[in-house]
Amino acid sequence: MSTANMIKANLDWANLGFQYRDTGWRYRAKLTDGVWHEEANPTKDMVISEGSQAINYGQQCFEGMKAYTTINGDVVVFRPDMNFARLNQSAARLLMDPIPEEIFMGGLQKLIDHNLAYVPPYGHGASLYIRPLYIGIGDNLGLKPASEYIFTIYCSPVGPYYKNGFKPISLMVSSYDRAAPHGTGNVKVGGNYAAGLIASREAKNAGFDDAIFLDAATRRYIDEAGTSNFFGITADGTLVTPASSSILESITRISLTEVALFLGMNVESRPVALEELGTFVEAGCCGTAAVVTPIGKITSGDRSWTFGDGINAGAQVKKLYDTLIDIQNGKEPAFARWLTKMG
Ligand SMILES: *Cc1c(COP(=O)(O)O)cnc(C)c1O
Repeated sequence: MSTANMIKANLDWANLGFQYRDTGWRYRAKLTDGVWHEEANPTKDMVISEGSQAINYGQQCFEGMKAYTTINGDVVVFRPDMNFARLNQSAARLLMDPIPEEIFMGGLQKLIDHNLAYVPPYGHGASLYIRPLYIGIGDNLGLKPASEYIFTIYCSPVGPYYKNGFKPISLMVSSYDRAAPHGTGNVKVGGNYAAGLIASREAKNAGFDDAIFLDAATRRYIDEAGTSNFFGITADGTLVTPASSSILESITRISLTEVALFLGMNVESRPVALEELGTFVEAGCCGTAAVVTPIGKITSGDRSWTFGDGINAGAQVKKLYDTLIDIQNGKEPAFARWLTKMG
């Protein structure tokens, strides 16, 4: 019998929303003098020095991934090898020690083992959101890399992102920049996000769903939204994704590109000028949390670009989304290699 058939937590799986829930078990390990020590039964609260580099100077990085129950009852994690590689790229950029594979993958397996009751059963569109977090800690005052580190993985069951249907959103081109060309835009480090809060607030106050950023060097090209990558689809069915040194290479986007080829579309990765938005018949954003979000409209000052009819998701964005969801649910076997069975 599959472990996924075990007793599940008593939750309203279809209406979980996207919020933090303490499941009672997280993985945590500390790196001291070059040796990793696993903590026994840590709680959600971490006691760290007020001098810790993570909270004073932002020496921290993180990941986001999801576990699902497939149609066959297996508990799988979507492409965790990619998250592992990216976390260590982020760590290297901040002079943090690399996390060994047995700590990341072993910790992930333990997290799943202890949280099987919180992996949503198949059929509700829900999943277990998994957050690996890596922080520099210790008694410190001056700016230098930490001498000790904590790596923790916590999780929270989350509902389907689209409770009210798969509806297009509107984005406002931000007057703020997210990341500099040789800065940290291409790594998943906490420092990138606090600076983007104001852009999101500004967009929402102006009646949009969120902000989208331009490249900081020329402010001519689309970079990405604050937590998701952009893509456009041309009239001839080409999926175009921005090439930029300051965007976070979304694993969802990399996957969508392969799905697009599988569906017979063409794919292109190149800088996308704001002016070119008019050549896209459909557009969307992608990332682990929402998977794919159709974009109905992008506005920059007094200029606007509408995609599709602006009200309903376009057929190609919908097809990409549905195919990726089928892959994650174990219904589309062509990409079964992307699912790591962990329960
Ligand atoms: C995490 C993130 C994404 C999405 O990446 P996925 O690997 O698809 O989850 C996109 N942009 C930014 C800035 C992010 O932090």
